[in-house]
Amino acid sequence: MTSEPRVFPIRCKTLMTKSKIPSLDYAINPYLGCEHGCVYCYATFMARFSDIKDEWGSFVGVKENAPEILRREIPRRRPGVVSFGTVCDAYQPVEERYGIARSCLEAFIGADGFDVGVLTKSDLVLRDVDVLSRLPSADVGFSITCLDHRLAAAFEPGAPSPSRRLAAMRELSREGVPVWGFFGPVLPTFTDTEGEISELLRAMAEAGATRVLVDAMNLYPKVQSRVRALIAKVFPDRLDAFDAVRRDPKGYLPALSERVETAARGVDLEVDVCF
Ligand code: SF4
Repeated sequence: MTSEPRVFPIRCKTLMTKSKIPSLDYAINPYLGCEHGCVYCYATFMARFSDIKDEWGSFVGVKENAPEILRREIPRRRPGVVSFGTVCDAYQPVEERYGIARSCLEAFIGADGFDVGVLTKSDLVLRDVDVLSRLPSADVGFSITCLDHRLAAAFEPGAPSPSRRLAAMRELSREGVPVWGFFGPVLPTFTDTEGEISELLRAMAEAGATRVLVDAMNLYPKVQSRVRALIAKVFPDRLDAFDAVRRDPKGYLPALSERVETAARGVDLEVDVCF
């Protein structure tokens, strides 16, 4: 986002939300909203749930009491897999000032049985390498949808550039923190050819990832209209191709999956497709 977001404090009653994602037990979101403001974001429903009228990406609710709630919650919860950042990025810019994600990570030091992971688009996570190193099973996933800076700036206006994310991945890996890649969503008509997929997988492997999860764009109506409006404005020559995908989103997937599988054969990575 180009202008400063509206930042306001909120109080939470609980922080460890049971996750519906099969590989996760709990989701932790230290903030409400996300300054990264990705055009394809599936989490915009959070604003509606909280009766917030601001545009997605232009507000952040800071869960100021989150670390305190979490310290009380951890001993009462059954151990399991925990992911930071499912409906916000825990390392969005506001984290630099408030440090809520850091304090929440610290709450897991010494808590047996919890596998803690972070999924982020930000190199700010590097700040917390000392805490991550004290969590024996912690890993960090970097979400990267393209390598082209102009494309990233259009689709993910408030997030650090892909090269900063790759550099952070490399650095954390050097520090001994396991890293992985999330190539999701593949941007239809922009990063969905075998060559583009292969290039991104290779970049992640070179930055230290041993595993990459690939996801397609979930083209439900709200995402479709936001993405279409962006393409019409910034990349009008791609509009017809995007409309073809939009008209038959299910029909698009088998061929995409095949291209991912072919691209994956040429890279030394474990690649999983989750669509
Ligand atoms: S970083 Fe994730 S949560 Fe934040 S706007 Fe982008 S897709 Fe949504």
